[in-house]
Amino acid sequence: MIRTVKWHAVDLDQVLQHLSTTQNGLSADEAAERLTQYGENALPEQPMPAWWQILLRQFYSPLIYILLIAAVISAFTGDLRDAGFIVGVLILNSVVGGYQEWKAEKSSQALRKLLRIHASVQRGEEVKEIPAEQVVPGDVVWLESGNRVPADLRLVWDRGLKIDESLLTGESLPVSKNPAHVFAADAAQADQANMAFAGSIITHGRAKGIVVATGTSTAVGQLALDVSQATGGKPPLLERMERFTNAIAIATLATAAVIGVVGVMLGRYAPTELFLFTVVLAVAAIPEGLPVAMTVALAIATTRMARRGVIVRRLTAVEGLGSCTLIATDKTGTLTVNELTVREARLATGEQFSVTGEGFIPRGKVVPQSPDYDATTSALLHGLVQSAVLCNEADLYQRDGGWHWRGDAVDVALLAFAHKLGVTGSATLAKYPQVNEIPYESERQYAASFNQIDGEVRIFAKGAPERVLRMCGAEWDRTELEETAREMAARGLRVLAIAAGTAPADLDPTSAPAEPRDLTLLGFVGMLDPLRPGVREAVETCHRCGVDVSMVTGDHSVTALAIARDLGLAQNEDQVMTGPELADRSPEELVEILRDIRVFARVGPRQKLQIVQAAQQSGQFVAVTGDGVNDAPALRAANIGVAMGRSGTDVAREASELVISDDNFATIVAGIEEGRVAYENIRKVIYLLISTGAAELVVMGMAVLTGMPLPLLPVQVLWMNLITNGIQDVALAFEPSEGDVLDRKPRPPKEPIFDRLMIQRTIVAAGLMGVIGFGTFYWMISNGHSEKEARNILLLMMVLFENFHIGNCRSETKSAFSLSPFRSPILLAGAIGAFLVHLAAMYIPFMQRLLDTSPVSLTAWVAVTLLSLTIVPVIEIDKWFWRRRVTRQG
Ligand code: ADP
Ligand code: MG
Repeated sequence: MIRTVKWHAVDLDQVLQHLSTTQNGLSADEAAERLTQYGENALPEQPMPAWWQILLRQFYSPLIYILLIAAVISAFTGDLRDAGFIVGVLILNSVVGGYQEWKAEKSSQALRKLLRIHASVQRGEEVKEIPAEQVVPGDVVWLESGNRVPADLRLVWDRGLKIDESLLTGESLPVSKNPAHVFAADAAQADQANMAFAGSIITHGRAKGIVVATGTSTAVGQLALDVSQATGGKPPLLERMERFTNAIAIATLATAAVIGVVGVMLGRYAPTELFLFTVVLAVAAIPEGLPVAMTVALAIATTRMARRGVIVRRLTAVEGLGSCTLIATDKTGTLTVNELTVREARLATGEQFSVTGEGFIPRGKVVPQSPDYDATTSALLHGLVQSAVLCNEADLYQRDGGWHWRGDAVDVALLAFAHKLGVTGSATLAKYPQVNEIPYESERQYAASFNQIDGEVRIFAKGAPERVLRMCGAEWDRTELEETAREMAARGLRVLAIAAGTAPADLDPTSAPAEPRDLTLLGFVGMLDPLRPGVREAVETCHRCGVDVSMVTGDHSVTALAIARDLGLAQNEDQVMTGPELADRSPEELVEILRDIRVFARVGPRQKLQIVQAAQQSGQFVAVTGDGVNDAPALRAANIGVAMGRSGTDVAREASELVISDDNFATIVAGIEEGRVAYENIRKVIYLLISTGAAELVVMGMAVLTGMPLPLLPVQVLWMNLITNGIQDVALAFEPSEGDVLDRKPRPPKEPIFDRLMIQRTIVAAGLMGVIGFGTFYWMISNGHSEKEARNILLLMMVLFENFHIGNCRSETKSAFSLSPFRSPILLAGAIGAFLVHLAAMYIPFMQRLLDTSPVSLTAWVAVTLLSLTIVPVIEIDKWFWRRRVTRQG
């Protein structure tokens, strides 16, 4: 029934009638009933890929193609065992990889739930925040700038509303709306200006609308568009590694070809043996375990971050955080708790009042500070408080014995203040109904309300002192008043000026009013917003680990500096700059300025973007926090956009890479720590794989050059790379923090994974393992042992090398002995597990046949163990040299 109504073409009464609802919305019971009737207000999510799709995806890699070709050729040349083993291992690999990917997919879906959109709905007299999924047809929804429209709405009322409908219409400029009008039945969607469609974004103003369609019945639902926008794109690290492995694949083929040619020319090997050589080379060179280990490492980082309150929306951020050199942070709510309390009030006539009590719960007193407090002053104070209550968009009320609030912290604080003087919002508003308003937007820095009082319309305004004073009549001594405001701000108070006046006679209640003029200043209120616990320490940590912190705030420079001093961010006025001062600087000048400035005050959203871009130009890797709709450009431009999970608007969250669930600055620092740990773990995994793979190459290369027989069979190399090494490198991805990640400088963002340290260490490790391995093989062949015996010993030796080498991989600089083996039980279990698996391969007959292995004597065990242990002291010495060089340089 509902679907057939053309909502834009009927008048409001009919809309209400069709939906059996009222201007005050539905009762809670009715809403619950409708929720079962109409279902959740959600679009079918992108279904998880089927298990076989995920499995198949594991085979899309040139490395796998090469191995498959090798298997096919082996099968043709009659070696069915090799072919079978390669295929078996590939299947196992894709199962492990597929399982990891499936798990990652699952957890990212779970995280998406945490990022749900909320909607303010009216249920009876109350406005409630509910998850957008629970919105039902007939609900009355309140919208404000920054919201994503939760469902298709027939608008009832608006104030300066502007909506970005680009998702539906492709029109990128925000459009205005006209709720009062009824449109022709055949009006195009873009012309239905009394409707707001699900998925569009409120960029300005406020509105109220009635839900006419939810879920798949909405216009976007019909188009089957996914509003939440997939966070696609591979992390650059994975992409770089993919390019790296592809290069290896090509190089392998080329080397294999060269070896083939050289081998034929030397005439030492038969063609089938040459072919085996090339297959083994390919298998040795390809880091088969890498994709799985990397997926695991990134997945672990994401979970660890989530546990500490950092929700990763784009995996880019995981590795990026470790490179962050500058955090440009909000003040209110991020550095402070955003529980503003009015601490003092000052009338325009000079009388002062101090206010007791803490937080939003209105328990406390307003104490006059001047001795000559009389009825006139009391009336003036009440006038001030009344204005603050009328020009207010928040609610504060008592129910079930507790206090509840909704709305902007500044507004709630003012309501609490008024309550302490016995003035309540609902009673005052009932007496003096609002006829129009200028809602607060951060770029405006003030708000105004137009109310009907005793037959005339009065204006009540509140906002930044300089801004409000500009709207006041000329009889005011601005310099003196500004000085008063300044003095309050210097004590760290957020200062708001409150003024009132008479509205112009020709005020049109339906259109957006012009900026008020000729107001009378009533006074100032000063609010305190305590610092969040732990933030001071977090700022200190940032400085220790080479991350600069800048405060970017809309607040007054004096307030901002007072708080920055408290935090140890800045000491004096030279480190503060205001938005207007920044406005006409060239990008080059900005870069220069940024070097010393730590506090940016009275900054608008546009300048925030400028600051971010200038910082990036000067080589910084910038994380930016933001919450408003206007922050979206800066969040997008930042290397890492960090949105606030609680106070953040839907738009800010969608523009960001990370969401901080508790809005706390200290949580960003926790994210940086986890990001650095993740990056280091990825390096460790890569190092383990590459150094052992390179060692195998050394053995093979030396064998070809000296005309030795094939030192390892393809199955044996695969066994090592995928099974024994595979178990261990996945375990390595779980390594906990080394504890000192926050004592180091940020990693240069352009620094390649293969930096000097990595290359040098790979050469040392691969050289040692390769030479000892080949030497042992050579000695055995020369002393009359069979090829099979020699291979068996070499294989055992390589597995043991890996077993010991993993201890080296736990830290790039610290001695393996300084890290307790029990610090990371998974790694210990991984190493033991890999060893046991290989024992099984040597002693279980079926495995022996498959891998051409056999048990070895006790003497051999001792000799092989001792030889492979050499990797530990050698790497220890290398680390020692490295540490010495670094301390000398530092
Ligand atoms: P911040 O960066 O600290 O979040 P805002 O952009 O929220 O700063 O606020 C900037 C200034 O706008 C404040 O210093 C205050 O003077 C004024 N202001 C903030 N909130 C309101 C509001 N709800 N009504 C009127 N003025 C406000
Ligand atoms: Mg703010």
